[in-house]
Amino acid sequence: MTIELTSRQELILKIVKEEGPITGEQIAEKLNLTRATLRPDLSILTMAGYLEARPRVGYYYSGKKGNQILKESLNKMMVKDYKSVPVVIKEDTSVYDAIVTMFLEDVGTLFVVKERGTLAGIVSRKDLLKAAIGKQNLQDLPISVIMTRMPNIITCRMEEPLIEAANKLIQYQIDALPVVKPLEDGQGLEVVGRITKTTIARAFVELGKDHEV
Ligand code: ADP
Repeated sequence: MTIELTSRQELILKIVKEEGPITGEQIAEKLNLTRATLRPDLSILTMAGYLEARPRVGYYYSGKKGNQILKESLNKMMVKDYKSVPVVIKEDTSVYDAIVTMFLEDVGTLFVVKERGTLAGIVSRKDLLKAAIGKQNLQDLPISVIMTRMPNIITCRMEEPLIEAANKLIQYQIDALPVVKPLEDGQGLEVVGRITKTTIARAFVELGKDHEV
């Protein structure tokens, strides 16, 4: 994580780089400070990944570059910790009702499910707009006629790094991914969550907050 280090933290880093492994006590002596004064700095540097601490040995420089540390923090952010609740409709829902649901639930993408909550399709705002400028009666047109359907749906799993889900959103130029869990009998994918561009923006903001020092 590339965080702004204070000049004292930079100094500690320099000492450890040159003389590590070195104990907290020894670092404190070199800086003419008490061990207690240094404690917050040492824990920040350790948590951020610049230093590693080994009991009875001391602190040593992890040798990791800022962006390597950032990559590691990103890979620890999992889909399951950031997903939101999916908004689902049934296959026989009319396009009209789907539009109403989209407004009421305030989402940009609806997931279409079969019995047992398994994924059948997905509809976006533009799919609905396209249907709405057509000549059909929206009350009679089932959503299954216009949805993007399985197996052409890009999904993600609970135990997937959020960064991979973000990558799919970019790569396939879509706004949302259903989070899915395969049913134990192999008969489809249960929809258990939703990752959208908003999820990614929120995680990005949080990432900044976590490392404020
Ligand atoms: P919009 O079309 O409203 O800008 P998207 O960019 O998300 O919204 O959708 C573009 C197209 O891709 C739509 O036809 C939609 O049905 C489809 N789509 C949306 N999400 C997915 C997904 N996860 N997997 C496959 N297709 C999707």
